[in-house]
Amino acid sequence: MGDNKLKVIALGGLGQIGKNMMVIEYDTSMLIVDAGLMFPENDMLGIDIVIPDMSYILERKDKVTGIIITHGHEDHIGALSYLLAEIRAPVYATRLTRGLCQVKLRESRINDVDWHLISPGDLVPLGPFSLEFFHVCHSIPDGVGLAIQTPVGLVVHSGDFKFDHSPADGRPTDFAKLAELGRRGVLLLLSDSTNAESPGYTPSETMVAKTFEEIFSRAQGRVIVATFASNISRIQQVIQTSARYGRRTAIAGRSMSNNVRMAMELGYLDIPERCLLSLDDLQNQPKNHVTVVCTGSQGEPTSALVRMARNEYAAISLVPGDTVVVSSTPIPGNEELVNRTLNNLFRLGADVYYDELLDVHVSGHGSQEELMLMLNMVQPKFFAPIHGEYRHLVLHARLAERVGIPRQNIFVLESGQVLALDQNSAEIAGTVSDEYVLVDGLGVGDVGQVVLEDRRLLSRNGFLVASMVVERGTGRLLAGPDINSRGFVYVRESVELLERARAVVLETVKNGGNRVGLSSQIKEALTRFVYNETKRRPLILAVVLEV
Ligand SMILES: [Zn+2]
Ligand SMILES: [Zn+2]
Repeated sequence: MGDNKLKVIALGGLGQIGKNMMVIEYDTSMLIVDAGLMFPENDMLGIDIVIPDMSYILERKDKVTGIIITHGHEDHIGALSYLLAEIRAPVYATRLTRGLCQVKLRESRINDVDWHLISPGDLVPLGPFSLEFFHVCHSIPDGVGLAIQTPVGLVVHSGDFKFDHSPADGRPTDFAKLAELGRRGVLLLLSDSTNAESPGYTPSETMVAKTFEEIFSRAQGRVIVATFASNISRIQQVIQTSARYGRRTAIAGRSMSNNVRMAMELGYLDIPERCLLSLDDLQNQPKNHVTVVCTGSQGEPTSALVRMARNEYAAISLVPGDTVVVSSTPIPGNEELVNRTLNNLFRLGADVYYDELLDVHVSGHGSQEELMLMLNMVQPKFFAPIHGEYRHLVLHARLAERVGIPRQNIFVLESGQVLALDQNSAEIAGTVSDEYVLVDGLGVGDVGQVVLEDRRLLSRNGFLVASMVVERGTGRLLAGPDINSRGFVYVRESVELLERARAVVLETVKNGGNRVGLSSQIKEALTRFVYNETKRRPLILAVVLEV
C-alpha cells in the first residue's frame, strides 16, 4: 500500500453488535470514530465488558489527530476511557454526547480530556481531513453523522440513524445535507446495518408516546418504566406523560440519575422540578401519583428493575396493581436474563408490558426502506455496511445492490479488515489484529482464552485439588496428599472415590521427583482416574510444595 491510499479499518462493530470503533487513516494522520464496548457473550464467564483491540492505534499513537464520537450510546463511548488512558488526542463530540462521556469518564477518573464541542453544520479541518457534521435522528438526542473530505474523496459515515419524521426531540435527520453530499459526489458510504433485517420503515418514536398514553390512562397503582440509562428521549416521554396524569417521577439507579441530572443541566431534558420525586419520598405518596424510571431493561443483575423483581429493592416493593413497562428489546444474548426478570415481575402480581405485548419500544435504527433512501440520497461510488452482525451486513449489501450499486463496489468487511481506497478504486488490503479484549473488574485484557477455558471447565465440572509437601531434592513425601474438591462431586457421598483418588496420587509420587515433574504426573494420573470413574472432566490442580 502506498501512502496515497486512504485506509478505513473497523476495529469493532462489523460482524458483531457493539464495540464500534473505526480508524480512518491517510499518510501520517489517523482519525478514530467512536470507541464503544460490547456486552459479553454467554460463554464469557465472569467478564464484565468487551472492548475493541486497540493495538493498531496504540502502535501508531502519534498519528492520531482526533477522536470523533457520533453519539452517547455505550456501544460507541464505552471504551473511550480505555482509549484515553493510553493516548492523548482531541475528542470531538456534541454537547449531550460529551456530557454522557464525561459521566462515564468521571467514573474511571479520567479528567483532563481535550474536548472540542461540535454542532451539526460545523466544519473542522484536522490534518489532511476536513470534517463536517450533520444531525441524525436516533434513540438518543444529539447524534451526528460525518462527512469526511479526504485527499482521495468524500467519505460519509452515517453514525446510528433512522429517518423519524416526528422524533421526540423534534429534530429529524438532515435530509438536505445528505442530498447535498450526494450531489458533491461521495467516494465511500459507511452506513448503519443494525436493522437491515426489518422490511419497511421503523415506526416513529411518537408511536411509543401513544402506547404510554394508553398505559398511564389505565394504571391504578405505581408505574415503573425500565429503559436504557442513555435513552434520554424515552425518559422525557415518560416524565411528560406522567405529569399529564398527575404523577411525579422518581429516578432509580445511579447511572440513570447521573444521566438525567446531566441532561437537565444541558437542557436536553425538559423537566420542571415539580415533576420529580426523590426515592426517599416514594413511600409517602399515593400509589397513583407515582412513576419510577429505572435501569434493568436488559435484565442486568445489579439494576433497579431486577432487584425490584426479586423483591430486594429497598425503596419499592411491587404489589398487585402496580404496572411495569419494559421499554426496550433485549440485546442478543440478554434474552434469558430479561425473561427471568419478566417472570419474576409477573410472580409479584404486577401488570407487565413489554415489546411482545404492546408497542412500548421502537428501534432507533432505520429499516430497509430507510437504508435504501440513505443509499439513494448519498449515491456513493463505494459502499461498506457497518454496525451489525454478519448477516445484517450481507442483507444491507443486498439492499445496496438493489438500488444500483455494482456488486464489485460493495465491501462486506469484518472487524480487523482494511479497506484501501484511492480516487477510483477500492480493495480489501490485509487485516489488523482484532482480538476480543475482555475486561474483568480492573483487569483489561489479562483474562484470555486460557483463563476463559478454565472458567468453562470450572462451571461445568468444578475442580479437584491434590496438595502435598515433599522433600526438596529427593521428592520424598513429607505431608499429604490432601484431596479437595468443589462443584465436582458431593463430598459426603463420595468419600470412597476421593480416598481412591488419594491412593492414585500416592502411587504416582512413590518414586519421588521434582516439583514440576510430580505436578504434571499427578495431574495426568488424576485426570485419567476421574474420567474413568465418573466420565467427568473437572479442572485438576496439583499443588506440590518443596521444603
Ligand atoms: Zn446508538
Ligand atoms: Zn450503535
